[in-house]
Amino acid sequence: MQKIAMTTPLVEMDGDEMTRVIWKMIKDELILPFVDLKTEYYDLGLKNRDATDDGVTHQAALATKRLGVAVKCATITPNLQRVEEYGLKRMWKSPNGTIRAELDGTVFRAPITVPCIKPAVNGWTSPITIARHAYGDVYRATEIPVKKAGRAELTFTDADGNVTRETVYDFDGEGVLQGQHNKLSSISSFARSCFNYALTTKQDLWFSTKDTISKIYDQTFKLTFESIYEKEFKSAFEKAGISYFYTLIDDAVARVIRSNGGFIWALKNYDGDVMSDMVSTAFGSLAMMTSVLVSPDGKYEYEAAHGTVTRHYYRYMKGERTSTNPVATIFAWSGALRKRGELDGIAQLSAFADALEKATLDTVNDGVVTKDLLPLTSIPATAVYTDEFISAIKKRLSV
Ligand code: NAP
Ligand code: MG
Repeated sequence: MQKIAMTTPLVEMDGDEMTRVIWKMIKDELILPFVDLKTEYYDLGLKNRDATDDGVTHQAALATKRLGVAVKCATITPNLQRVEEYGLKRMWKSPNGTIRAELDGTVFRAPITVPCIKPAVNGWTSPITIARHAYGDVYRATEIPVKKAGRAELTFTDADGNVTRETVYDFDGEGVLQGQHNKLSSISSFARSCFNYALTTKQDLWFSTKDTISKIYDQTFKLTFESIYEKEFKSAFEKAGISYFYTLIDDAVARVIRSNGGFIWALKNYDGDVMSDMVSTAFGSLAMMTSVLVSPDGKYEYEAAHGTVTRHYYRYMKGERTSTNPVATIFAWSGALRKRGELDGIAQLSAFADALEKATLDTVNDGVVTKDLLPLTSIPATAVYTDEFISAIKKRLSV
């Protein structure tokens, strides 16, 4: 069989623990036999991040800016325990945070839906994609405990020394205080990423905030989206037959539950954090959730939404076989290969990505699943080990 040729390499970011093991299985069994794979390889495994003083993460991010499409394995974000476990020089930052800061992107998360796994919400027949703004608000807030009565003020001193001052509250006793911020540049690039992603995936875009209560902060988000839409995207949306729709977050929640899915729901940082867990759980499992970082100028980084599945890895290291779900990691590869095919005009590559996804879903629908899916399937199913599951996919891919 002739392997499918590629022209531009993918940026390949290897990772840690169980997902690193699965990464190799996927490449060896499901990709290399079919595609003459070209990648620029970056080892983001924690050992190599430490050895390169995290330089490898920055290089991988820059390569993504240059080549346009990356596929990333899950990586450990070090904490104190990991510093000891790996004897790290420093507690390196989250690789995803570093890459996101470099690409200035928005993260889109979508469930992988299969007919035999029914969402908790009956009406959801198509996936709902959450677009979460990944900067500011409560994640960058400054907080002060208030110990006794006094006046809390919000002051801003601009670059010319002009001062704006507002009273937050006159405390008559103990309390708490919090200051939040966001940047117009970040809100604008969030908006552009969302509009671009809606166009490439041909889905309607919803956006919701609490602008009725937050008349300046949330209103700025609403107006920024509105003005960028009117000026830069309206005609393209009309041509594509998709729509942009803003509504108050309370109303959005009710509409989402009543909907059939099939759209993108853009949310501020905290709302997106919370709603993505709700939506992914209602669709089934974190192991069936894809994640793609899209920059405002259209660079893509594909990955699974879950982590390195540490508990399974420790069992694997003891010589046990595990039944770890590789579906989201397979879809990270197929997403990246499809996008590369689209950008380089290689229809065969995009068709291979479709076939790989179909073979994966067919396997699940035939009742061959990993252990985590067993309680979720509505058909008689058998749980198999990861390597058996991947072989079952390969069998369906080859015919
Ligand atoms: P996790 O790796 O997502 O795993 C949490 C639990 O969820 C697992 O123990 C397993 O449950 C289940 N699970 C997740 N993915 C699965 C899969 N593919 N197949 C089967 N079960 C799956 O999260 P974590 O244990 O909190 O984090 C582990 C490491 O991953 C941490 O070092 C963290 O920094 C990193 N992390 C990386 C990313 C990323 O790179 N994007 C994201 C999140 C976390 P059972 O054990 O009950 O089977
Ligand atoms: Mg969360």
